[in-house]
Amino acid sequence: MAYATVNPFTAEQVKSFPNASDQEIQQALEAAQEAFDGWKTTTFSQRSQILQKAADLLRAEKPDLAGLLTLEMGKLFSEAQDEVEICAEIFEYYARHAETLLQPEKLPASDEQGEYWLKHEPLGVLLAVEPWNFPYYQVARIIAPQLAAGNTVLLKHASIVPQSAAAFEQLMREAGLPSGAFQNLYATKDQVETMIHDPWVQGVALTGSEGAGASVAEQAGKALKKTTLELGGADPFVVLRDADLDKTIQWAVMGRHFNGGQVCTASKRMIIDQHLYDDFLQRYTEAVAQLKAGDPMLAETTLAPLSSQEAADNLKSMIDEAVQHGATATPVGPAVPTQGAFVQPTILTDVTPDNPAYYKEFFGPVSMLIRAEDEQDAIRIANDSPYGLGGSVFTQDIERGQKVADQISTGMIFINHPTVIKPDLPFGGVRRSGYGRELIGLGIKEFVNHKLVGVVDIEAPF
Ligand code: NAP
Repeated sequence: MAYATVNPFTAEQVKSFPNASDQEIQQALEAAQEAFDGWKTTTFSQRSQILQKAADLLRAEKPDLAGLLTLEMGKLFSEAQDEVEICAEIFEYYARHAETLLQPEKLPASDEQGEYWLKHEPLGVLLAVEPWNFPYYQVARIIAPQLAAGNTVLLKHASIVPQSAAAFEQLMREAGLPSGAFQNLYATKDQVETMIHDPWVQGVALTGSEGAGASVAEQAGKALKKTTLELGGADPFVVLRDADLDKTIQWAVMGRHFNGGQVCTASKRMIIDQHLYDDFLQRYTEAVAQLKAGDPMLAETTLAPLSSQEAADNLKSMIDEAVQHGATATPVGPAVPTQGAFVQPTILTDVTPDNPAYYKEFFGPVSMLIRAEDEQDAIRIANDSPYGLGGSVFTQDIERGQKVADQISTGMIFINHPTVIKPDLPFGGVRRSGYGRELIGLGIKEFVNHKLVGVVDIEAPF
């Protein structure tokens, strides 16, 4: 079966699910459109009640929901609980703010002969294609704003998290969402294409790899449907000469190894001023060596397995390839367990721009360290990437950090912190990291009709 739960810590296949039939896809499309016809007429207050209820249920069912995440993609149970919490906060954010964010705006008219309003009306049925690394958070980021706006959503989730996907659908039903307004489908890629071309579907939001983004955007382009793409990243983690190394190293370990290192905004490229480089390398290596790989359900575990054996094998071959092209790969810390989809934490040094690894995204506990001559060189290296998602600058001089941040071309950048994720901050990138923004007012306005309504009550000139 294409959709299956395989515990990445034990390698046991727990459950599998058949793909949706073409008939089920058709029924889902019809149900989504039917639901939209009713949902778009509900008031913000009615939608808010359901969103708030979803937030309450997420909190009430946190341990069970978090346990599913750990079971299906291996993240630490503590991190899984945090993920459930941020989803609740996202739902609450839109329960409280959707109405204000979508208030009709009176436009300053160019003459005094009319009155012009910009209204934000829902578009209809949307398709969300989501990845496994944050199985609930990625879904919340799209459904909370889009349902709040009055759209309905069909979900094609990653094939390794079928139970998490089903749990979210169930939760929304329990929250009182009308039938059909949010449906999880075990769709094949061909069925995704069918849905994109269906006249009822008005837009597609995808979070995932560049390959999936390019494929889905190509199909949507042919169908003349709007897309938003949240794709890969290789966030620069710039360490300036005056950085406080104690703090910086703690954040570097966290920024790189959170969620088993499988985060689009993980601190994947550490760009360090040459005056600190040797010290940083030594102390960072010592700190990474303290990570404890093991059962992700246990509180003492700090390094999770990867999401699947395939992901682990793929990462190991990327390390080998980097070495074949001249990089030095240093395994760090005690050997990771042989059971489970673990990859030994690895530090990559001597990665030069002629090594293809220099421009790649390593999705797991692999840290690339790059020596910078000075501040300008660090900025140049930070920008020498096909990606432009997040990033950070470490310095004790905040003003200097901000000036450096202004020169780094990413969708998000932070002084003295790895890329921050919060319910009330926007998320998105530039270049091969995709386009569009999720969360806050930007996210809720991605799939609405910004409709101009004018009242021009004057005599015709002839
Ligand atoms: P992926 O293979 O692209 O999968 C993401 C989703 O796309 C899954 O549901 C997948 O389904 C589906 N998919 C893949 N190819 C498709 C196609 N041709 N047509 C339709 N659907 C398709 O992504 P991944 O490798 O699992 O996830 C990691 C990537 O996502 C990394 O690059 C990471 O940086 C990126 N990511 C970005 C963000 C962000 O917000 N910018 C957040 C998280 C992750 P199947 O599972 O059935 O293949």
